[in-house]
Amino acid sequence: MNDEQLLRYSRQILLPGFDENKQQNLLDAHVLIMGLGGLGSPVAMYLAAAGIGKLTLVDFDHVELSNLQRQIIHTTSNLKQPKVDSAATTIKNLNPQVETNCINQQLIQSELEQLLENTDLLIDATDNFTSRFMINRACYNTRTPLVSGAAIRMEGQVSVFNFQNPESPCYRCLYDEEGEEDTSCSENGVMAPMVGIIGSIQAMEAIKILTSYGETLTGKLLIADAMFQEWRLMKFKKAPDCPVCGQK
Ligand SMILES: [Zn+2]
Repeated sequence: MNDEQLLRYSRQILLPGFDENKQQNLLDAHVLIMGLGGLGSPVAMYLAAAGIGKLTLVDFDHVELSNLQRQIIHTTSNLKQPKVDSAATTIKNLNPQVETNCINQQLIQSELEQLLENTDLLIDATDNFTSRFMINRACYNTRTPLVSGAAIRMEGQVSVFNFQNPESPCYRCLYDEEGEEDTSCSENGVMAPMVGIIGSIQAMEAIKILTSYGETLTGKLLIADAMFQEWRLMKFKKAPDCPVCGQK
């Protein structure tokens, strides 16, 4: 690390148990962010600011006026731009040392698995179950740690599926592929800071996994209810009959 980096990341390097080596782990890391909307915005900004070396940004949408209430990586001057390009511009301003790789398309599972071959961690910041189940399978097949988040109305949840640990459950252990119906922010609404809260926790978990710092949400589901500010932590185990990670 050079002097500029030591200064830029000094408030992290100062933390008890978090030294230059752990900061170097972040600088060497490659994180893939699926979705640059409400959750992906704080995730990408915090990971860039914290010094993740390389971020691959995946989204196929354009910035719309109704996005700006909560998708804080995009600005009014970026309206109509592809979200990945708008996000990359903000990241460059925040921290020019971060390398960004923009993918402005919807990926199928095999394409995602190919990308994950040289990726250290994936952040699921998508907004629908079809994508989440596909991402879970791709991460499980490539043993890529997955940080999953969701937010709607005044509620949100976060979990970590660390597939480098064989005991870790997967997203499919928690949710049934048949039984889940999408609830969208466009139909149900979402309060601006809700996606910020959940996305920030996702960024925190990613940093902890990449640096083996603290204890992660592996095997735990954090459920946040901002209306009454009640947060619950639910533990869960691998489902033996899970079609993704169970014994076949
Ligand atoms: Zn499973």
